[in-house]
Amino acid sequence: MYAEVIIDITNEAVDRAFTYRIPEGLDLQPGDRVLVPFGRSGRKKDAYVVSILEETDLESSRIKEVCGKTEKAISVREELLRLALWMSVEYGTTRNQCLKTVLPVRSTVRKNSRREDPIESLLGNFSENPDSSPRNGFSGREREIVLNEEQKKAAATVIRAFRACFDGSSCPAGALSCQNPELSNSILTDGPSCPAGASSSRNPEFSNPALKGGPESPAGASPYQNSQQSNAVSRFLLHGITGSGKTEVYLEIMEAVLQAERQVIFLIPEISLAFQTVKRIASRFPGKVALLHSRMSAGERYEQYERCAGGSASILVGPRSAVFAPFPRLGLIIMDEEHEGAYKSETAPRYETRDVARMRAQLSGCPILYGSATPSLSIYAEAVSGNVCLLRLNRRAKEGSMLARTEIIDLRKEIRDGNRSVFSRRLHSLIEEKLGRKEQIMLFMNRRGFSSFVSCRSCGEAIRCPHCDISLTLHLDGTLRCHYCDYSLPLMKLCPSCGKPYLAPFGIGTEKLEELAKKEFPSATVLRMDADTTKNKGGYEKILGRFRAHQADILIGTQMIVKGHDFPDVTLVGLIAADMSLYAPDFRAQERTFQLITQAAGRAGRDRDGGNVIIQTYQPDHYAIRLSRTQNYELFFEKEYSFRQLLGYPPVEKLMTIQMSSGDEDFLTITAEQAVRSVSACCASHSAELIGPLCASVYKIKDIFRKIVYIKHPSHDIIIKLRDEFTSRFREIDRRGLVLLNYDLQ
Ligand code: ADP
Ligand code: ZN
Repeated sequence: MYAEVIIDITNEAVDRAFTYRIPEGLDLQPGDRVLVPFGRSGRKKDAYVVSILEETDLESSRIKEVCGKTEKAISVREELLRLALWMSVEYGTTRNQCLKTVLPVRSTVRKNSRREDPIESLLGNFSENPDSSPRNGFSGREREIVLNEEQKKAAATVIRAFRACFDGSSCPAGALSCQNPELSNSILTDGPSCPAGASSSRNPEFSNPALKGGPESPAGASPYQNSQQSNAVSRFLLHGITGSGKTEVYLEIMEAVLQAERQVIFLIPEISLAFQTVKRIASRFPGKVALLHSRMSAGERYEQYERCAGGSASILVGPRSAVFAPFPRLGLIIMDEEHEGAYKSETAPRYETRDVARMRAQLSGCPILYGSATPSLSIYAEAVSGNVCLLRLNRRAKEGSMLARTEIIDLRKEIRDGNRSVFSRRLHSLIEEKLGRKEQIMLFMNRRGFSSFVSCRSCGEAIRCPHCDISLTLHLDGTLRCHYCDYSLPLMKLCPSCGKPYLAPFGIGTEKLEELAKKEFPSATVLRMDADTTKNKGGYEKILGRFRAHQADILIGTQMIVKGHDFPDVTLVGLIAADMSLYAPDFRAQERTFQLITQAAGRAGRDRDGGNVIIQTYQPDHYAIRLSRTQNYELFFEKEYSFRQLLGYPPVEKLMTIQMSSGDEDFLTITAEQAVRSVSACCASHSAELIGPLCASVYKIKDIFRKIVYIKHPSHDIIIKLRDEFTSRFREIDRRGLVLLNYDLQ
């Protein structure tokens, strides 16, 4: 047997693995630390086992032998290395790619570029506006906030778990399950003193699930069982309605962690959705906060990581890559807005931040806190089954702030009554009423551009992108644009299919909505926020800042306006076409719709009562719409979960999506079909469901064709095994590697 090892992991050349013979009787696993003779001198060096091989092509006389295992404490770099190796198995991506994702690439910043501290520039950008009134909650400790009872309880529970993690001693063995006090109706006075084996997790078992194989035994599983592996980390879910003061709870907990000289990773879905949160953290812990965001150069990012490693920062706030912060004494991971889609990586390794964060927490032996008003089904299922400890905030935190009054408007009835406008009569009159009172309004429309597509009223053909399998969107400047590849061309006069002059735009987007709103309410100042108006640096901050400073009455936008923002003067939120997201070809469409509506509704009436939310829809009776009106998350969860159970969708079963893509359509079709045929018996023998090959919902993007195969099974490990089986069969057929394979595990 041989071991592939990485030597000297403090060096950049981590991707270079060396092969050593394993001496008789020594049992090695990937992840073990060993001593090996290295170089001509044969000096002993620390090394790290990344894989075990049965055989090797190398000439056997030249292979040296492993000296033995060592039991050194692991460094943060090793921790990250382990994380990368785990990711490589979990997401089917090369080790190299995972290492690059996890370990910050050393990169220097150009010397002559004078850069500001990213926090300062962020805060500066935001407060250019005459907006420093303390009621906005930016001024940190200036306005003392006293936590209410719910908040105190939640914070105390997590702080207790944090202390238990690092004291170790106070944790009685066997106190492994967090009994969810909220769910079992017992009172949360004492809280779980030691959730989920926290103290022993400094040295977690590093196992390769693909090697283990075999089905898991879901013994004693609750109806909401999840087939993930062991659970040696204490995890919490802060489920608090919008405006219930979750951020204050985070701040309180972070304070305790910092006092204990430990560090915090604070994950946000996207910086543009979280200015206010960043601002509150930065002003509460001045000088201690490092920040990552997507517009930073590699050098700037590296600098922030260095601040974490070097101890000058104790909190790293950032999107998903912040989970790789090289904190040597990580004490807590917080993941705000846990349900957000932006937490899923779109490039390989296509990781789910929730799961990577959990593994990171496990490796560091620290607790993890997820927070959301609309948790993902998957995390809530774990809370219900007791793997995650549920903490609840049921009330709005601010004095006098109440949930807005929410109404559902049936658009079919509007049309029947002769109103063809995008504004229902009720929404129209409310807008006028609020404008009259100098209050603010947000209108939400989940599609940018002017019209959704242009088609010919004579032949019925829609104008499509020549490179993508999708119709082009008309924009106000008269161009037709592809939202997938950015291809654009000016709107023509004659239909390219039949040559007749009957082209007409259909459907509406944010640009059109803006135009209509200006026409209907000429006295109002209207701002629009979508991907088109926020392309430039500082674009988001400027628009949000202006709206916050009440320099506009109406803010129109795509989903980026519904998230987390706290606008005290907004008393009306209108969802123009709430069910648009229900039609998405995705089993999560209902979940997304519920989240979107609930979050959007949460924007209204945060500071005073009398807030209104109008949900315009063609499907007023759909449960995702009906239940979001009352923000009844629990009921929605039950309904949606039983739906998923019925169909065997995640989180009930695991779903592996394998995407095969190639510019050569015929070759793709043939190989995909052959591969499916050759793996079907293997899937059947595991009673796994194999679906496909199917065309992706957008079959062609940028001239690349995409086919999909789904594998469904309750066991995570079997899914991984079948994925690898499929891959190797596929590569036997496509020996030259012409087809790109991508995996997505849900
Ligand atoms: P969430 O993150 O749950 O949406 P926030 O933490 O942003 O809620 O709080 C909403 C508003 O309530 C903020 O303006 C915040 O300053 C205020 N707030 C939070 N906790 C309290 C409290 N205990 N007393 C008074 N105001 C509070
Ligand atoms: Zn295109």
